[in-house]
Amino acid sequence: MLIVFDLDHTLFDALKFKDALAECFTFKEGGFIKSYRKYFGKFKENFNPYKHVSYLISEGKIDSGNGQKIKIQIINLLKRADNFVFSGAESILENLKEGDRELVLLTFGDIVWQKMKIKNLAIKNYFNRIIITDKSKITALDAYKNYSGRKIMINDNAQENKALKKELPDWEIYLVDGPYADVVEHGFKKYTLKQVLKHLI
Ligand SMILES: [Mg+2]
Repeated sequence: MLIVFDLDHTLFDALKFKDALAECFTFKEGGFIKSYRKYFGKFKENFNPYKHVSYLISEGKIDSGNGQKIKIQIINLLKRADNFVFSGAESILENLKEGDRELVLLTFGDIVWQKMKIKNLAIKNYFNRIIITDKSKITALDAYKNYSGRKIMINDNAQENKALKKELPDWEIYLVDGPYADVVEHGFKKYTLKQVLKHLI
């Protein structure tokens, strides 16, 4: 059995993490969100806080000394990344790891930033393979097209799941409830991570 997990909003509380990240950007009240939208909003590039700092410096919003301080705060936040893993996620992975299951972490986003996050997460050790893509999850899963056992994808994003179901009909897809579970109309049932586990063991 092959089980592919998404990271953000599935195993990792990316909303809470974003709030903590905003606190690292101490340059101006509300400055993080406003500039985040400007540089990394819809249809713009994938978020990377180090790029965010560089853009703020180049636009003269902060000086390089302030940029340096923000970067140090980001590094300190990354060291606490485990605190943002959803409670119970680790025990679910531990449960699934027993037995002959292959676990894969598949995440979409800025390659460098996602890599930095994952490097600081203890749950990385449960996965046989970690795939970070800035293209598409469907393309990344193509690597498993000849896998003959049960193939499972656990992901919070309804829009991605709809596309996955269409392109990869031989996969079982579980929609994890979260902020992106209703971004499009869909016929998926919504699950908590715990509920998904019951279908897999
Ligand atoms: Mg996600």
